[in-house]
Amino acid sequence: MNPAALTRIMRSCTGKVQRNLLRFVWNGRQAVGAFERRLQRKQPFFPAFLMLSITNQCNLRCRGCWVTQSTPPQQLSLAQLQGIISTAEKYSSRFFGILGGEPLFHPQLFTLFENNPQAYFLLFSNGTHLDQACAEKLAALGNVTPLISIEGLENESRRRRGRDDVFAQSLAGLRQAVQAGLFTGVSASINKHNFAELISREYLDFLIDQGVHYLWYYIYRPCGKDPDVQCALDEDEIFRLRQFLVEQRTSARILLIDAYWDAQGQALCPGTTGISHHIAPNGALEFCPVVQFCGGKLNANASNLEELLQDNQYLADMRSFTAQLGRSCVLLESPRELEEFLRSKQAEDSSGRDGWTELAGLQPLPSHGSRQRQLPEKSLCYRLAKKFYFFGFGAYG
Ligand code: SF4
Repeated sequence: MNPAALTRIMRSCTGKVQRNLLRFVWNGRQAVGAFERRLQRKQPFFPAFLMLSITNQCNLRCRGCWVTQSTPPQQLSLAQLQGIISTAEKYSSRFFGILGGEPLFHPQLFTLFENNPQAYFLLFSNGTHLDQACAEKLAALGNVTPLISIEGLENESRRRRGRDDVFAQSLAGLRQAVQAGLFTGVSASINKHNFAELISREYLDFLIDQGVHYLWYYIYRPCGKDPDVQCALDEDEIFRLRQFLVEQRTSARILLIDAYWDAQGQALCPGTTGISHHIAPNGALEFCPVVQFCGGKLNANASNLEELLQDNQYLADMRSFTAQLGRSCVLLESPRELEEFLRSKQAEDSSGRDGWTELAGLQPLPSHGSRQRQLPEKSLCYRLAKKFYFFGFGAYG
């Protein structure tokens, strides 16, 4: 790792933001260690991290989005969110991904952050509503890192977002976050259209010039009512993404994140390992955000969260079923087997659309686990980070 990736954080983030970030690094390791011990000792299951889609409200209608918007919007109540966080605290799980829709539209979002200074929140946002006041409030709290989705430069952003102004608005939100001294990230789900422009050193340098501290790469998953299948990556493109990550991590002045490969370059599915699961705006407890089926939903104050995770067999069966299929993304590579499994479990369609018809319409596609040559991390720092934070947890035997 290029030390400049860290010194940039020390020079540009506020003291409070840096202290919270260090506590997250420590608590994150505690959460992973506690999760690992629960698995080894066959103690009641609880993931190390939870991804919470707190609202389905959004100001955009992007191609390939898996969220079903509604009027009035569906959202997790503050009582449910507080119930989730208090329950997770019992399992040393203090890191939460906050997704939407656009989470900044949730009326109690800042109350949630204020009420939980011990927790750390990864705020997935399109950045269009991250103005100066919002950024300064987040910096004053210190326990939130904004992750702004930039799905391509101008043209690709227009194609994906369906509007001309989103790229500029997301960049403006990004700059507000940086100026406020926040630990600021950018995310992108890589597809055929944005591959060349976003998998490049020029793009990393562009983000560094904007003051961005980390970049989280996702592989595009065709799903939702408008899956845009033809822009999914092929095996060669997925391998080149992996090569780029491994190479650039040795020298880039920005942190590069993925949730697909371990230190040896073996593919992982976060859902299969159980390190994280997802809660939808309608309270559905799902394997992951894009597999929109569930075994049950939260009650009004989330007091049934442990029961859904420990007594309800759906997620446990889903983890062992996907582990048997191999180190890959079940939604991309095995939609037929997935459909058969979900029907056999009488899983509930929690998409808010006709999820069964959508699933039946998906064809197998390559994922980060398909016949890929294994590329171990070259950077010692990333090898250690993966070794202590992101590995198989014995899910694959
Ligand atoms: S099933 Fe696919 S999208 Fe879901 S967590 Fe696993 S790899 Fe990710």
